[in-house]
Amino acid sequence: MDMYTGPFFEQARQNFAVIADYLEIPLHQRDRLLLPKRAIMVSCPVHRDDGTESVFAAYRVQHHLTMGPTKGGTRYAANLHLGEVAALAIAMSWKCALTGLPYGGAKGGICVDPYSLSKRELEAVSRRYMQEMIPFVGPKTDVMAPDMGTNEQVMAWFMDTYSMYQGNTVTEIVTGKPVDAGGTVGRREATGRGVVHLAGRAMERLKIEPDGATAIVQGFGNVGSVTAAALHQQGIKVLGVSDHTACYFDKRGLDVPALLRHAETHGVLRGFSTEAQFDPTALLIQKCDILVPAALERVITGDIASKLQCRVLAEGANGPTTPEADRVLNARRSEIFVIPDILCNAGGVVVSYFEWVQDLQRLFWTEPEVRDRLNRVLERAFQAVMARSERDGVPHRTSALAIGVEKVQKAKMTRGLFP
Ligand code: NAD
Repeated sequence: MDMYTGPFFEQARQNFAVIADYLEIPLHQRDRLLLPKRAIMVSCPVHRDDGTESVFAAYRVQHHLTMGPTKGGTRYAANLHLGEVAALAIAMSWKCALTGLPYGGAKGGICVDPYSLSKRELEAVSRRYMQEMIPFVGPKTDVMAPDMGTNEQVMAWFMDTYSMYQGNTVTEIVTGKPVDAGGTVGRREATGRGVVHLAGRAMERLKIEPDGATAIVQGFGNVGSVTAAALHQQGIKVLGVSDHTACYFDKRGLDVPALLRHAETHGVLRGFSTEAQFDPTALLIQKCDILVPAALERVITGDIASKLQCRVLAEGANGPTTPEADRVLNARRSEIFVIPDILCNAGGVVVSYFEWVQDLQRLFWTEPEVRDRLNRVLERAFQAVMARSERDGVPHRTSALAIGVEKVQKAKMTRGLFP
């Protein structure tokens, strides 16, 4: 099937092929595991502020419904395409299975630059997108969440639009909502906190003390900013940060609270400093203990992988490492400890699951409860990935993906193939 194309989908296909070979999955079962169940494509027309109309293409891909509803984020990006959305949906399936969540993976999004829209236009396109998706989503079918370019406010509009059509409030249709609209405490911070929790576990294994350790974070949105804040809180010096507007680096360490205040006020990092400005293409290859790509996919190429000077690569973003880079990192296994994306950034979907459970039960947990349960789930997944990697002598990514793929495969075999 070649409806899914592009380098990111090829990356998902290649990663899967490595795992399928390692798990010795029969050839005839592979397409059923890899190819998404459904892909929905819609056009979203909206009134612009200047009186004209625009139409934005949008997608939702649901990978499999074998273990429960599908679950996954919604991305707003100008160059979004179906293959990218499908690759992200597939990765969500392995991530949910690795962490033991009763979901298949999904992903969706709109081909729009969210930074180019006014707030009213953003609301219009968000509501229209959800309205177009109503026949295909539901709390027991497919539950959306935020991803790049979307946030709590967008989730609130999704929930409100869906609820208006149902005639009652259905908070469990999306996760990552504001707490006052049925969200859970700790969801906004969950992905970044999870990244830092796992980076801490990696540092323990490498015997790196947090005090005096250094980090670099690419991306300063939800994942990147919370990661930088949590690293700073642990006494780790953040040497470099970047977003799509600016890049800063200072060997003495950046003032993270001031960066957070600047981003909160201005929405972006641009304008924070003139002295610490740095070449964004060189940021990832600076010497540091923890490197966190928390923005785009495929930023760690083979060339960059061979130049990395970090001890821990904590993949906050989805798919930041190309297969070519992976081969380089596998050869550098004794130097660089990789925490693969489906483990490293799983905190987000784990707390999304907690939010869905709380919404369904109308029973809300405290922040310490959310944090404690999150850490326990991540801990279990981390230990499982380490144990398999050590047992079979395979890289962490192979181990993590294999645990996820194997669970989905077993569930499919147990349920059988209808009819
Ligand atoms: P976001 O929209 O909140 O932030 C994205 C950040 O990336 C912004 O700071 C943006 O300026 C920056 N960015 C964009 N292009 C860049 C470039 N060329 N160089 C440097 N920075 C750039 O998105 P997010 O929710 O933080 O998601 C970031 C990554 O984490 C994505 O890969 C996403 O799929 C993944 N992720 C997010 C969550 C979540 O809970 N939000 C969960 C798991 C994984």
